[in-house]
Amino acid sequence: VTTTNPQFHALLGDLSGVPEHYISAVAQTKRFLERWTMDPSYRDRYLDDPQGAIDDLGLQLTPAQVEPLIDNAAARALTALLKEGGAPDVPESVLWYRAFIQEKVSHRGDSRTDGVPADPRLAAWRQRQINRCVSELGAHKADAIVHGPLAVELAKGCTVGCWFCGVAAPKFEHTWPYQGNEEFWRGSLHALREAIGPCARQGFLYWATDPLDNPAYESFLADFHAVLGRCPQTTTAMGQKDIERSRRILRLAASMDSVIDRFSIIALNSLYKVHEGLSPEELLRVELVPQNRESAERAPKSNAGRARRFAEKRSGELVGEDTGSTIACISGFLLNMVDKTVRLITPCNASPRWPLGYWTLETCTFDSPEGLFAAITGMIERNCRPHLRVDDPVRLRSDVRLEAEGAEIRVLTLGTRLRLGGQPDAASLAERLGGGELTVGELAALRATESQVPMTDTMSLLDQLFTQGMFDEEPTPPADALTAAEVAARRAEPVAVSIGSRG
Ligand code: SF4
Repeated sequence: VTTTNPQFHALLGDLSGVPEHYISAVAQTKRFLERWTMDPSYRDRYLDDPQGAIDDLGLQLTPAQVEPLIDNAAARALTALLKEGGAPDVPESVLWYRAFIQEKVSHRGDSRTDGVPADPRLAAWRQRQINRCVSELGAHKADAIVHGPLAVELAKGCTVGCWFCGVAAPKFEHTWPYQGNEEFWRGSLHALREAIGPCARQGFLYWATDPLDNPAYESFLADFHAVLGRCPQTTTAMGQKDIERSRRILRLAASMDSVIDRFSIIALNSLYKVHEGLSPEELLRVELVPQNRESAERAPKSNAGRARRFAEKRSGELVGEDTGSTIACISGFLLNMVDKTVRLITPCNASPRWPLGYWTLETCTFDSPEGLFAAITGMIERNCRPHLRVDDPVRLRSDVRLEAEGAEIRVLTLGTRLRLGGQPDAASLAERLGGGELTVGELAALRATESQVPMTDTMSLLDQLFTQGMFDEEPTPPADALTAAEVAARRAEPVAVSIGSRG
């Protein structure tokens, strides 16, 4: 979408130059699709009487304006037509809506790029985690993770208590009051920017909490914008609870150039209330996330956090075992302002070891903004290696499989397939890569004597695997998650190696 193309307008920036009818057409299409996606009785109503169902919602649309968006075959045909140069018979509003979706996808990419930390050690570590997630979770799942630099909890626990909570939010205890903490808060925001750079602006103010549990959320939000120059995204499951407050927050966020906010819809009744209380135009930049039971088939939930307890009972509402599961979206710092804790975390596939779908590399406490700065810089120093060292063990992740055939080694994971060609004695190299017993320097020396491979070539190959996130960097899980025997067993897990016969 570009503002120079007369047919399309950007909808995530300043809307003052966008014609009202354009905004309304996209907002109303979005509203129709929200009801269509989340409410099966509405789908029945539409199939009975398409125009009547659209009129029920008070929308000025026709069935021709929504059909290419709800009928898979029509959507595919339209994509093919557009690739060939145009679709003259398709209503303009359909193209505008599709352009809006593209704009949101591209915004996600921009957020990821803007989230690159200034500290080169932290930046290199984050990029490795991005690469690891692609290979561990699969490209589709990984693409949705922005790897934000930080998240801040303004409460202890969450009042909503969703059964599927992917981060298993504990029961609500209390919030961190704004009054009396203003200086601490602003000082902490300055400390975050100093420690990790301007990318701190890509942070947000919730995690295993609902931001609207804090009655002063609006003040925290305004300070974040004032200090870091960006309005953080609000994600709440309480959008329907107090419509006037939701409206005020959306207006405040719009005044600070917020781009996208999100309301989780955990029950159909919430959808009705949100639709009744806020106009399509007010919700243009608010994604309604389908979390209600009726949406489960179209939008299954991650098998992470509290949802894991219901893996059998509600299996039809969760993604399958073969799909990567996590809702974690930061590779950076998770703060809780009540406990004054800061953790370095990064997403992973949820498992018995890491049921919350993220690794915790280290947890520190702080009692002042200066203490927060020291804690973060210390964690970067201790945990974020910029590159591979000669005495690092050559140990690949346990989900990596290696295949050797001829002079080629293939490194296989759920989401990636790396081919490393031109490797003398590839089978022996694969076995050593999978063995996990040598250091980088030892393997390079062995390759030089046994196969006449220059040491620099082996180092560069290993560095490539390290940068791609194939090395095992998994921290030791918290003591309560694993027995000592399990920790030892994990370390002993071999990488699967298979040797072919060609060549
Ligand atoms: S999913 Fe969100 S709203 Fe629901 S319990 Fe977890 S943190 Fe609270």
